[in-house]
Amino acid sequence: MAEAVEHAIRTGEHLAVQAGTGTGKSLAYLVPAIRHAVADDATVVVSTATIALQRQLVDRDLPRLAEALAKPLGRRPTFAILKGRRNYLCMHRVHSGAPEEPDDTALFDPFAASALGRQVRRLHEWSSETVTGDRDELVPGVSDQAWRQVSVTAKECLGVSRCPIGMDCFAERARAEAGRADVVVTNHALLAIDALEGYQVLPEHDVVVVDEAHDLVDRVTSVATAELSSPGVANAARRCGRLIDQSTADGLAEAGDGLALVLEDLPPGRLDRLPEPMGAALAAVRNAAHACITALGPERREDVEGTTARRLAMAALQDVHDTAVRLVEAFEPDEADRRDVVWLAADRDGSRPTLRVAPIGVGGLLRERLFGARTVVLTSATLALGGTFDTLARQWGLPPSQPRAHKAEGTATDKAPPSDQDGPKWTGLDVGSPFQHARSGILYVARHLPPPGRDGLPPSYLDELAGLVNAAGGRTLGLFSSMRAAKEATEALRTRIEHRVLCQGDDATALLVREFAEDERSCLFGTLSLWQGVDVPGPSLSLVVIDRLPFPRPDDPLASARQRAVAARGGNGFLTVAATHAALLLAQGAGRLLRSSADRGVVAVLDPRLATARYGGFLRASLPPFWATTDREVVRAALHRLDAASPVNQATAPAP
Ligand code: SF4
Repeated sequence: MAEAVEHAIRTGEHLAVQAGTGTGKSLAYLVPAIRHAVADDATVVVSTATIALQRQLVDRDLPRLAEALAKPLGRRPTFAILKGRRNYLCMHRVHSGAPEEPDDTALFDPFAASALGRQVRRLHEWSSETVTGDRDELVPGVSDQAWRQVSVTAKECLGVSRCPIGMDCFAERARAEAGRADVVVTNHALLAIDALEGYQVLPEHDVVVVDEAHDLVDRVTSVATAELSSPGVANAARRCGRLIDQSTADGLAEAGDGLALVLEDLPPGRLDRLPEPMGAALAAVRNAAHACITALGPERREDVEGTTARRLAMAALQDVHDTAVRLVEAFEPDEADRRDVVWLAADRDGSRPTLRVAPIGVGGLLRERLFGARTVVLTSATLALGGTFDTLARQWGLPPSQPRAHKAEGTATDKAPPSDQDGPKWTGLDVGSPFQHARSGILYVARHLPPPGRDGLPPSYLDELAGLVNAAGGRTLGLFSSMRAAKEATEALRTRIEHRVLCQGDDATALLVREFAEDERSCLFGTLSLWQGVDVPGPSLSLVVIDRLPFPRPDDPLASARQRAVAARGGNGFLTVAATHAALLLAQGAGRLLRSSADRGVVAVLDPRLATARYGGFLRASLPPFWATTDREVVRAALHRLDAASPVNQATAPAP
């Protein structure tokens, strides 16, 4: 892998590397990256999806490498961490105390208001202790609303030359440090902003390593998603209210109220055409926001207080205006040519309907702005889906690999547009895994069960689950496709098995994972974040149960729009979008089982479609190569043996 990364850096040919857990992949890309940075006086950016990996790189891998490489390189390589401005405490905001107007909930709910007040007070105390001002270092964390009171976006920032705190600003310090470093560690969101949004937030760099690359498309999509709601419009109107003629600001507030009335009458879900009243309401918001922006006028030389208030107002107004424009324009092309999908999302109680607009695909953007501008190395334990890198490469905007790798039966059939063949050059490499999957793990598919229904877990699923958990002596990570199913299984099993069942939501997830790891016979049931974020080596985890294949919900607006766009190009939308989504999550979920070379265990999938459906071949080929069976007795016997061999049982077994 290190040689392949070095080759990519030298030739400029992009590289996708699949490297299993325990390979040491961060060292394999960091060594050639550091050598390039030092030798060519360049900066290499390393982007991650999770804070956990960021911490691992900055606290463990990079310091050790800096130590080890100092002699051969002739100097100690340097590194820094850089996040978006909103991630850092803004000391100007803390000192000037420009508070955000509380939103409606906080205004009418005294408990919410006092909880918010307590959190903001804690943030003020923390501001005098922290060295970095980095939100991720604040434990326990605070709500987004509280954090907004002490931070600014890039558009809201006064700029280092105008800001009285400029020289002591946490964000500016982090930027300056990053500008001097050989390696800059960042997250996918900032990478996306730097590449896609046209203003430079990362230091000049010619190589970027995207670790946890399986998450890149989702993170880029999030950055490119915008939303508009009437509370958001009201907030913009309030912010500019004191700076411009009141009647102009009132006009915006009224347009926001009009939008609220229209949205309340619409059902949540994807919108394929622009309903007339909504079009009129959006046009009114757009025009009113434009009037406020014009009234605010260009920036004048004002005192700091005036500039601060103006920046906050302008950022909010521009956001409202640009999103209203984008929402209207999204419907203008014919359906087959649309680039954006629009949907109406609602709170649980339906009280705050919000319009969202997201790109149907980000491949074109990534190809042009990321792959077209620098050498990219993408890596993860899960990149080859159905045995080929092409499935994800298509989403990144890369052409199919040459020569075509063998594809599993049922692999996505999206026909790429002809011009895709001319895209950037790249190669795929699977460096395998240090684990012997076929010897250490069993993939069990409960083929005898009925396909999952719409209404919760069928009794036969609960029986199967209880039987497996009992055979394993607890030690089970239950990965459910919905929180409802996780709770249902928790309640049912708490009355049926003697082992402790922890359920996501009972406490902070990190604490639950720690308890699960420490209490060997406990079980942990939960949903999405557990599919990707649990790392528990040893006998506390010898069974991973997956209740159903994790396809996106049929009413998921983005996935359904993407499926339709693929079908319009002559491909198979279900396989390309839904099956790919499921394959990625399944592989991530199954990857929770073996975390060290001594680990043994079972991945049990209750959904029989993994064995029976046509696309099952593609999904199975996306999983690690476990020994596979559909025989319940075989798998229970294996779990019994593992349980009997565990240190807890060995310690309590009677002497022979
Ligand atoms: S430069 Fe910007 S982020 Fe930094 S303290 Fe000033 S306003 Fe806040």
